[in-house]
Amino acid sequence: MRNLVLLGGGYGNMRILLRLLPNNLPKDVQITLIDRAPHHSLKTEFYALAAGTTPETHMRVPFPEHERLTIVYGEVVNIDRANKAVVLEDGKEINYDELVVGLGCEDNYHNVPGAAENSLSIQNMAKSRKAYDAISALPAGATVGIVGAGLSGIELASELRESRADLRIKLFDRGPRILKTFPERLSKYVKKWFDKHDVDVIANSNITKVAPKALYNHEDQIDVDLIVWTAGIQPVKVVRDMGLENVYGRVAVNQYMQVPVDTSVYVVGDCAASQFGPSAQLAEEQGEQIVTTLKRVWANEPLPEKMPDIKLKGFMGALGKKQGFVYLADTTVTGRIARLMKSGLLWMYKNQNG
Ligand SMILES: Cc1cc2nc3c(=O)[nH]c(=O)nc-3n(C[C@H](O)[C@H](O)[C@H](O)COP(=O)(O)OP(=O)(O)OC[C@H]3O[C@@H](n4cnc5c(N)ncnc54)[C@H](O)[C@@H]3O)c2cc1C
Repeated sequence: MRNLVLLGGGYGNMRILLRLLPNNLPKDVQITLIDRAPHHSLKTEFYALAAGTTPETHMRVPFPEHERLTIVYGEVVNIDRANKAVVLEDGKEINYDELVVGLGCEDNYHNVPGAAENSLSIQNMAKSRKAYDAISALPAGATVGIVGAGLSGIELASELRESRADLRIKLFDRGPRILKTFPERLSKYVKKWFDKHDVDVIANSNITKVAPKALYNHEDQIDVDLIVWTAGIQPVKVVRDMGLENVYGRVAVNQYMQVPVDTSVYVVGDCAASQFGPSAQLAEEQGEQIVTTLKRVWANEPLPEKMPDIKLKGFMGALGKKQGFVYLADTTVTGRIARLMKSGLLWMYKNQNG
């Protein structure tokens, strides 16, 4: 039996499983999925876990079941390409014929002194749980600093506002306006929501140092009680340690999502270099590309000369449980309808994968 090993049951590899199971797997191929968690985790909702508005149980989706799918729970510590093997923390080795690396990302602190030691994270479930515990323990009127006003920073700040009306929330944005690469109407809408709900957005910020209870914006010291870092990501360490060529910090891949020097290794999601910013949507589209390629490889057919370009639909963001924003096909939708669209998408995703 040929063994396709999927590292990480995230958005990219879940899409691969969805497409290959139940009927598209050739008879001589089996799949081994390796993840530390006994379920797929809805990472796009981790901000609500940290803010304490949605329980962790709502963020778990069972992995699929199939007679030719083996699920191994464990921590991947090494990817040994020379021997075509994956090494787990308990010493177990799993051999592969084809490998898809979809282990996601962790925070990138951009060498800011003290950032790693003194800030909390929402990049995985355990860390989000830790952030929740720390936020819940804050006394009335405490100040939370959130570094980074991308989608996850915005969603965390707004959800936290709904969760804890007493907190002072400071959101540090590197740009001159929030969501600066998107239409101004969207930025104004989000900024207005923050103004109305008393979230302090600090534009043009540059966090140069992080202390246990203070942030340094340029030279200015800003006292806070707790800090959450949402200002950049990089592939997890075990993937960085593979020593492969990287582009903008992510693993370089060819148009088939293969590592150019070793075409039996595919990379998906936040680990893979792309012209697009990392997102669950991108991971799923890359998963589709990998399935197209694998089917040809298994059938001994030549690969298409040119793979179809990946096209992303847009994005959706939540401002608490009632308001939101959507940017789809160059159209902006804001308010309650946008929030309902986002909830509907999540419902569909759970339904399709659960
Ligand atoms: C708060 C927040 C909100 C977001 N909102 C959106 C959004 O609205 N839309 C959007 O498109 N994207 C959003 N994203 C980004 C999106 O979540 C990621 O781009 C996406 O999860 C990447 O998918 P992936 O397949 O690369 O891996 P992931 O989904 O990150 O999964 C990686 C898997 O690998 C496992 N793993 C990692 N390391 C190991 C190891 N060493 N051993 C074993 N298992 C391991 C993990 O347990 C996990 O199951 C958001 C992210 C955050 C943090």
